[in-house]
Amino acid sequence: MKQLALSTDLINFDTLPAASQSKPSPQTYLDKRVTKSQRGTKRTRSQRARERLQTKEHLVGLARELHEGELADKLDRCHSRLSVLTCGRHIARIIPNFTCEFRLCPDCSRRRSRKLQNKYLPMMSAFMLHNRVTPVHLVLTQTHRKETRKQSAARIRSSFTKLTRRSFWKDNFKGGTWSLEFTKDKNGLHHTHLHIVGFRRKFFDIHLLRGEWLAVTGDSHVLHLKPILDLAVGLQEVVKYVSKPLDIRRFGAADLKEFLGLKNMRMFGTFGEFRDFCKGFEPSDNDDAMSELESLTRDLVEGCACPQCNAPLFDLRLSKSELPQFYEQIESSPPDKVVTSWN
Ligand SMILES: [Zn+2]
Ligand SMILES: [Zn+2]
Repeated sequence: MKQLALSTDLINFDTLPAASQSKPSPQTYLDKRVTKSQRGTKRTRSQRARERLQTKEHLVGLARELHEGELADKLDRCHSRLSVLTCGRHIARIIPNFTCEFRLCPDCSRRRSRKLQNKYLPMMSAFMLHNRVTPVHLVLTQTHRKETRKQSAARIRSSFTKLTRRSFWKDNFKGGTWSLEFTKDKNGLHHTHLHIVGFRRKFFDIHLLRGEWLAVTGDSHVLHLKPILDLAVGLQEVVKYVSKPLDIRRFGAADLKEFLGLKNMRMFGTFGEFRDFCKGFEPSDNDDAMSELESLTRDLVEGCACPQCNAPLFDLRLSKSELPQFYEQIESSPPDKVVTSWN
C-alpha cells in the first residue's frame, strides 16, 4: 500500500471529444440494438467528480453492511485529502493522500485504466503500422440466463475463444484486446458484454460475423461493430470497462459480496497475433504518446507554468467533497477568471 501515490489528473485526458468517435462513417455497420452503455453521455468534470464521490460513499456503505470494516476504511481514506496543483483555470495534477487500490474504487480504477492505456497504446500503434490493419470496436453480447456473474463471464469468454478459432475470424482479424463489461437488469439477470479492439484485415459483411457469433453461442447474434477513428479514443473507450466493469451505484451488498469472491477474475486480455506481438515488443522512447503527456505533468510543482496556459501553478489543499465544487467553480467562471479560492 502506497501512502503517497502520485496520480496525475490530466485535463485533456478524460475529456477527449466523444464526438470524434461517434461520428457516423459511410463504412460503419451500425447495429441499432447497441447496448445502452455504448451511447456516451457527456458530463462535465464536476459531475464526474461528484459521481465518483457518490459511488465511493455507496461502496463504503455496502462494505460496512457486509462487515468488511477494513475495506470500508481504506475506501473512505482513499483520495480523501488532495493536493491540487492548479493555475486557477486548469488542474495540472492531483496528488492524493492515499490510494486504496480496490478494483471498484472509482479513483483508483481511473489510474489503473490510464496505466493500461499507457502500456497498450504504443503497442497497438506499432502493430497497426507493421501489419496494415485497421482497428474496430466490436461488442459481443449474449442471451441472458439465470447464472452467476462468474458463469456469465465464463460463458461469453468461452464463446469468444471458439469464435477466434474459426476460419472466418482468422481471415478477417489479426488479433486485438478484449475486456469484460457487466451489467444487471431489473430482474437481476447478468448481462455480460465483451468489448474488443480488433485489428481488421479487410472489410467483411457484418451479417456473416453475426452468423459466426450465432454458430458459437447457439442463441445470440447480437453484436455491434464500429471503426475506431482515433486509436487513443478507441482504446480509452474499451479500457473504461476494465476500470468500471459494473454500474456500482445500482450495486447491492450481495453484488459486492459476489464481486469480492471474484477477486482474480481477468477483465482484460490480448488475443491472436497481437498477443505474441506484445510479448516481443520493446518500446522506444518516442512511441508513448500518453506517457509524454503524463511525464509533462509528473514533475510539476508549485510555481511551474501550467501546461495549458503557462500561468503559474499553485497548490490547493482540498478535501474529497471539495474537489467537485472546485471543478464547478472553474466551469462556471469566465475563461479569463482565475479561481484562487472557492466557497
Ligand atoms: Zn481507491
Ligand atoms: Zn492553466
